[in-house]
Amino acid sequence: MSLMPVDQALEIISQQFRPLEAEDIPLAQALGRTTACDHFAAVTQPPFNASAMDGYAMRAVDVAQCPAELAVTGEVAAGKAYNGEVTPGTTVRIFTGGPVPKGADTVIMQENTDRLSEDTVRINIGAEKGRNIRPAGNDFAKDQKLVTAGSVLTSRHIGMMAAANIATVSVYRKPRIALLSTGDELVNVGEDVGPDQIINSNNLLMSTLVIENGGEPIDLGIARDNVASLEEKIDLLRDTEKVDMFITIGGASVGDHDLIQKVLGQHGLKVAFWKIAIRPGKPMIFGEFNDGPMIGLPGNPASAFVCAINFMVPALHIMLGRANIGAPTSYAFVDHDLPENGSRQDYMRAQYYENDRGEKIVTTTPKQDSAKLSTLANANCLLIRAPHAPAITKGTQVKIMLLRP
Ligand code: AMP
Ligand code: MG
Repeated sequence: MSLMPVDQALEIISQQFRPLEAEDIPLAQALGRTTACDHFAAVTQPPFNASAMDGYAMRAVDVAQCPAELAVTGEVAAGKAYNGEVTPGTTVRIFTGGPVPKGADTVIMQENTDRLSEDTVRINIGAEKGRNIRPAGNDFAKDQKLVTAGSVLTSRHIGMMAAANIATVSVYRKPRIALLSTGDELVNVGEDVGPDQIINSNNLLMSTLVIENGGEPIDLGIARDNVASLEEKIDLLRDTEKVDMFITIGGASVGDHDLIQKVLGQHGLKVAFWKIAIRPGKPMIFGEFNDGPMIGLPGNPASAFVCAINFMVPALHIMLGRANIGAPTSYAFVDHDLPENGSRQDYMRAQYYENDRGEKIVTTTPKQDSAKLSTLANANCLLIRAPHAPAITKGTQVKIMLLRP
């Protein structure tokens, strides 16, 4: 079987996913969720002409000649309106956020005044109409569109939506992603590790990657490398409330103990493709199992991650209806020579920084070992090399995939 090019694999996978159903949730719980429709302001902000300063509200014409003395007739603070009107020659003491009283068209900051008595203030420097006043609707108006569908909500969005009195938001349901680790050698983190054993690090690597990308991981535990153990996990999957994607980790290759295709095949796995022209991660499987999409990730952590960031993450984003699908990419200047690439698209663990001209400079990690978690964890990007990309010299521009800080 020839290897599936990365772009084609992504195309095939993308076609299998659609945005999930929308649900309404309280705004306070909406951080990181993706909006399922446009959201509009329920109120105008500010709802009234508000003072931007602590000072005095007056008519600009009364302070066209300064210094000028005005009669202080009242006071207005945030949350407390002044019922009277500012008439010629008078002023009202005002504080930041207070509604500008009727008749006033200017606020003079306190620093430019001297309070001569309880009833009188001297204005030392005047100002034009409108100074230090935030007009009603200055930020946004009622019914104005504030957030478009497909946006990932940040604390900044949530603050704005709160100001707009949007108490409930419509977001896409979190995709439920079942994760099954496989291997006789695996024990869970924190357990005693025997001499032939390693920790099931991929389980947490993948479950947290799912969470980072808006999904909900469902841990099916570890299947051992035998038919009975895998069949037990297949039963567990079938007994689990419907999931949106099933991910297996390990056992995807051609070794005697790589049982995923064989055993899942006996229980209805339909393979769309197996083996991608990608490095690391060649033996990835994509197909349909238990009436849903299935990705069989290779077991080496860097391979599993590179496949997941390229294929699982875009699938999650599509299910979430996001405007931007997949990890963002950028360009950088490579800091060293690179030899001609082989026949697979390479995702080299790398680090970039920005120089003082704002250009990105990227350096690949010396040892591109697909089992190394330390280089993966310390990478902040993956340097992408197309199949058969020619040798390049230091300073050549290359494409990079940005990893979350
Ligand atoms: P496999 O794809 O099952 O042949 O595994 C390839 C390599 O990845 C082996 O060295 C495994 O021990 C390792 N591996 C497989 N699954 C995991 C896992 N869940 N966590 C950490 N390493 C794993
Ligand atoms: Mg294995």
